[in-house]
Amino acid sequence: MPPIQPTSPPDKAASDRQMIEEAYSKLKQAYLSSPHRKKIEIIDKAYRFACNAHAGARRLSGEPYILHPLAVARIVIEELGLGSTSICAALLHDVVEDTDYTIEDIEAVFGAKIAGIVDGLTKISGGIFGEKASMQAENFRKLLLSMSADVRVVLIKMADRLHNMRTLGSLPEQKQIKISGETLYIYAPLAHRLGLFKIKEELEDLSFRHDHPAKYDEIMHLVERSEEKRKNMVDKFMAPIRSKLDAAGFTYEVKTRVKSSWSIYRKMERKNLKFEDIYDIYAVRVIFENSDPEQENLRCWQIYTFFAEDNSIHPDRLRNWITTPKSNGYRALHLTVMGPEGKWIEVQIRSRRMDEIAELGYAAHWKYKTGEYPAESPLDGLMAKVKEILSNPTPNAIDFLDTVTLNLFSADIYVFTPKGDLITLPKGATVLDMAFAIHTELGRHCVAGKISHKLVSRDHTLSSGDQVQIITSESQKPETAWLRACRTAKAQNCLRSMLRRDKAVLTAHGRQLFAEFAKKEEIEPTPETMERILAHYRLASEEELYMMMASDEINLTAAPEMSAKSLARPSMLRKLLRNPFKRNKKETPEMVLQADANNRDYITGACCSPIPGDDVTGFLDTNGRIVVHRSDCPQLKKLKATYGSRLMPARWEGMAEIFPVTIDIEGIDRRGLLTEVLDVVWGEMKLNITDITCGARQTVFHCTLTVQANSLRTVKALCSRLRKIKNIETAKRL
Ligand code: MN
Repeated sequence: MPPIQPTSPPDKAASDRQMIEEAYSKLKQAYLSSPHRKKIEIIDKAYRFACNAHAGARRLSGEPYILHPLAVARIVIEELGLGSTSICAALLHDVVEDTDYTIEDIEAVFGAKIAGIVDGLTKISGGIFGEKASMQAENFRKLLLSMSADVRVVLIKMADRLHNMRTLGSLPEQKQIKISGETLYIYAPLAHRLGLFKIKEELEDLSFRHDHPAKYDEIMHLVERSEEKRKNMVDKFMAPIRSKLDAAGFTYEVKTRVKSSWSIYRKMERKNLKFEDIYDIYAVRVIFENSDPEQENLRCWQIYTFFAEDNSIHPDRLRNWITTPKSNGYRALHLTVMGPEGKWIEVQIRSRRMDEIAELGYAAHWKYKTGEYPAESPLDGLMAKVKEILSNPTPNAIDFLDTVTLNLFSADIYVFTPKGDLITLPKGATVLDMAFAIHTELGRHCVAGKISHKLVSRDHTLSSGDQVQIITSESQKPETAWLRACRTAKAQNCLRSMLRRDKAVLTAHGRQLFAEFAKKEEIEPTPETMERILAHYRLASEEELYMMMASDEINLTAAPEMSAKSLARPSMLRKLLRNPFKRNKKETPEMVLQADANNRDYITGACCSPIPGDDVTGFLDTNGRIVVHRSDCPQLKKLKATYGSRLMPARWEGMAEIFPVTIDIEGIDRRGLLTEVLDVVWGEMKLNITDITCGARQTVFHCTLTVQANSLRTVKALCSRLRKIKNIETAKRL
């Protein structure tokens, strides 16, 4: 690498000028031979502006700096197929970052459109990797923002990155590591997502070469050494296919594509394979000319039959991306065929049009063909996803990076509704993600999923090919814990807005309840009083108190220590704080059970007759019904052992209606004992009795009665009252 030369001797200046002129004329040629409208004046102007701005600056290699923007502009036209606006922006992309010119200067000369793109490029010029995860997330967010404003920003950035990677030696050492790392972590996956397959592969190989030079050389050597053998084998393999293609009148081209060195390396590392053992080191690609778009898919399948007639097709490796294109727009038919020497060979069948999209990306394709954005393109889907990610206010930087990686970079899976409709989701998506992908209401009431007759929980990770029925329940409402049960930005966004709305309604209701309570108890809600109540329940805010009151988790009326008198007495408070009310903080998602009989969409287990207040667990039976059991029910223990995944913790909510509860009472018999028992149940507690068996054997009084109670609290009060009756020894729920 030659050192930087601060000043140039006159002959050097002349040769520089010649080099620059040559680079520019190549760019012009590329532009003029493209199908774009010829707006050469503006490109000339941008070139002169950039030349002037970067005058005297050099890259580390000693080259004049302007050669870099010129090279980037050439990638923009030759490899991305973009037009004059993008070429100008590419020429000017480092002007604001590296020189004294401002974005206003650019706008004054070139107008808002070009200036907007240059501005976007300048904002993300610092790169993504920062010292901290939070900085990375912020930079990443900036990149996505500029991308959603104008996708060309990212396409030009991609060209910039590609040129920097091709000439990595021209950058300072510490920058090389950062650039190479970012390339592998962000730009290559992003290129893939944009459908820029060739650029993605080159970026990966260049970073691999930089990071592991010895490994890279080793793999390249192995690939070269096996080339002759490979060529012979493919010729032998393809000979009968070629004659069939010829006989059927196809015009076609057969290409042999070697897997990129980075992919080979990754596969060897991940699966611990030897080079010889990787079956798809090369793929045979059949590209056919096709003039009738209606026949395109059919012809792919026709070629497929040519392979299938004489060869074994690997049953698990047929990929039909013709009818269901990948989300980046990729279309082709992939199959893996048994080759002549007992080795599997991957075959890719594509039309010329499919091949162009696959190689250059959708951007290039539409620009070349029409000069316009197509009405509907895979880029729209991508942009929608980017917008979803940006509208999701993830507080945590790591979460944000995860969200982006999952929503933008992970592979797709294909799942089906019971009716057979296809839903595309990112790999790692759950039942809940699918519910939200179909309809927000389905997500809101999602209880579980059913895949091939088996019930699975909301957070079950889906696999490609799953046919999923979403099981809903009208009373099911979203809860904060659900945020952990879904991965897609869409589901998370929907959930957050639902939770916010629910929270507002609950808080308002709770505030009302509190006002009523305060009025009845004649409590002045002074800051001191409020603080005492919050301290008692260990709550952080009044809002939290209202929420818990509304959801029936806190009942001030039933808490004697919450009376005006107690609240005014600090000694009482101290006692309370020593024995604080324990809050239920469950991590696992819960099912919400409406206590109100009209809204019930579950049945209670006959074995244990749970009532509101009981610790309960829901069980999804094979008919999709929810059967609620007390968590300590022996029947449930059996279910747990056999159908663990169908169980879900549950919680009661709402005002309770009546539930049957059986109470067992024992004592030493005496005259009038039964009358006293019934007095307590009917007279004091005002509970209905639906069944009673009573008897005395010798001196032992025994009574089993079934009452209709609304909650565990009532039952406990009843039992403790019954135990106070003289001669009663035990009174407990059965
Ligand atoms: Mn640059």
